[in-house]
Amino acid sequence: MASEKVIGIDLGTTNSCVAIVENGTPTVIPNRGGYKTTPSMVAVTEAGKRLVGHIAKRQAITNAENTVYAAKRLIGRKWHSAQVRNAIATSSYRTVEGPHNDVRIVLREKEYSVPEISAMVLQEMRVIAEDYLGEPIAKAVVTVPAYFNDNQRQATRDAGEIAGLEVIRIINEPTAAALSYGYGRNLEKTVAVYDFGGGTFDISILEIGQNGVFKVIATAGDTFLGGEDIDARVIDWLVQEFKKEHGIDLRQDRMALQRLKDAAEKAKCELSSVRETEVNLPFIISSGRNEALHLQKVITRPLLEQLSTDLVERTIDICRQTLADAELHTDEIEEVLLVGGMTRMPRIHLAVAEFFRREPSKGVHPDECVALGASIQGYALVDESQEMVLLDVTPHALGIVTQGGYFEVLIPQNTTVPTHRQKIFTTSRENQTAVKILVMQGEHELAEQNELLGEFVLTGLRRAPKGQVEIEVTFEINADGIVSVRAKDLDTGLEQSIQVTATSGLTRDEISNMMRNAGDHLLERRSSEEVEVAKQEAERLIGEIERLFPQVEQIVAQSDFGREAIEKARAVVDRAKIAVEKRDLASLKEQIEGLARTQRMFKGVVAKTL
Ligand code: AMP
Repeated sequence: MASEKVIGIDLGTTNSCVAIVENGTPTVIPNRGGYKTTPSMVAVTEAGKRLVGHIAKRQAITNAENTVYAAKRLIGRKWHSAQVRNAIATSSYRTVEGPHNDVRIVLREKEYSVPEISAMVLQEMRVIAEDYLGEPIAKAVVTVPAYFNDNQRQATRDAGEIAGLEVIRIINEPTAAALSYGYGRNLEKTVAVYDFGGGTFDISILEIGQNGVFKVIATAGDTFLGGEDIDARVIDWLVQEFKKEHGIDLRQDRMALQRLKDAAEKAKCELSSVRETEVNLPFIISSGRNEALHLQKVITRPLLEQLSTDLVERTIDICRQTLADAELHTDEIEEVLLVGGMTRMPRIHLAVAEFFRREPSKGVHPDECVALGASIQGYALVDESQEMVLLDVTPHALGIVTQGGYFEVLIPQNTTVPTHRQKIFTTSRENQTAVKILVMQGEHELAEQNELLGEFVLTGLRRAPKGQVEIEVTFEINADGIVSVRAKDLDTGLEQSIQVTATSGLTRDEISNMMRNAGDHLLERRSSEEVEVAKQEAERLIGEIERLFPQVEQIVAQSDFGREAIEKARAVVDRAKIAVEKRDLASLKEQIEGLARTQRMFKGVVAKTL
């Protein structure tokens, strides 16, 4: 029996693409218009009709307020986040805050959640596939930027469900690109995938091995850096030029803004093949005296490059950091794959070639390879004869909040998934009968700087002195990158768990509040004898230094050098206090060295003046 058909969908910020493996060959499915990609746009007309894709894009200018583009920038994000603030500042459609601090989009007075909007695009892709294949399709593999966090992945999965698709796997876009590059070629290579799309930038380093093993070594990116940002620079420039000339701010007019957006993107794309182009927008706005004004400006390729230099540089900085994380040199990268529409811009192509010191591969199609890779993964999941193993990594560190508001990592960034990790914690107060597990994702040492994924409470703990009740916390990440967490009281065997869901939607302030309120119920790292000894040593040195502070300050405060030394000493003490609180052996040892140096210096100063 032929195995069930699974489509692969690249749900892009700007465009989406659908593919399927037919008779062993991955193929992109064209839409009814014959195009291989479909704009990720949704609109509602005055008559209440829903439009998706090219047809929505064609009417975007005349129906700007009711046409949604780049919804991917908002998916799984909180209303108060800087990224959402930034995105909606330039959008022509209306957004409001949803009940879970999420974003809702208003089209013709009706509010839609972002997954609902993305579901409309996914449904369109599904219909394109069904029309082409002449049969219903129920399963899909959907791609997301590698740097998407758990909330964004869950929200994308929700969108699939709303569209009536069973999303059998979510895979990272750069990984999908590498799959389409390496599939069936029996390669052994280390490749870098540089993916610069409409809204996001991603870089992944992968090892392609014998027998179809694709192993991601490192991945990083910026979910708020894309072609739209370059368009925004062009728009800013056009708005300024127009203001200089006519004293009118085109931003006040939604329709003018939508026309500008269109024209800016068009000019940017044209400048990939020609050296200059003209933006010509007749009757863009009327003056105070009711005369129609036109916008007419020439943009050159060097000007575009100048307007976007720092954005391109940011992508290269991320590449540099990712290579460092992977402990690789540029000359160890044997192939560079370019993915995403923005990589057609000559300056970007050149920047990548210069950084990696090699010409990027011509072997992948920037718009199609992600969907093709998703279809290959779908095929491998339902066809057991396929020998393909995909080993992806977690893009962010995962952990819990411990006493003092610190982030204790259980699964570090770039760990191969699926994976599970356990750590034992202890209660942080005497007779503590409940613990609150706050699950977070991010790179910051201070918990509140990271993204809160979810929380749960483990109650009914035995009353005991501080540190005597041991709680085992287990994190698990499945192949979709979705996280579940379990906490177990090792005394009683009592257990609580959650599958982390995207509904928490809290603001930073709310997170801080939660952490304050949960203060008495948080856990502490289990402390070993070695940690106790180090902690006592650090505390002794801190005490000694603090005792000498007033004397030393008085002696050295006259000179700049002395004031600097005092400041440095204060910083050493502050860092050491954090290490004491965190009970982290490695950092305690490091801080003890600094404290000892400071203590010697202080003693020396005091001794000399006696
Ligand atoms: P993607 O998300 O991969 O579909 O990439 C879409 C982004 O690529 C959008 O910002 C497009 O404006 C941009 N893009 C598409 N074609 C070109 C081109 N020829 N030159 C420059 N940018 C392009």
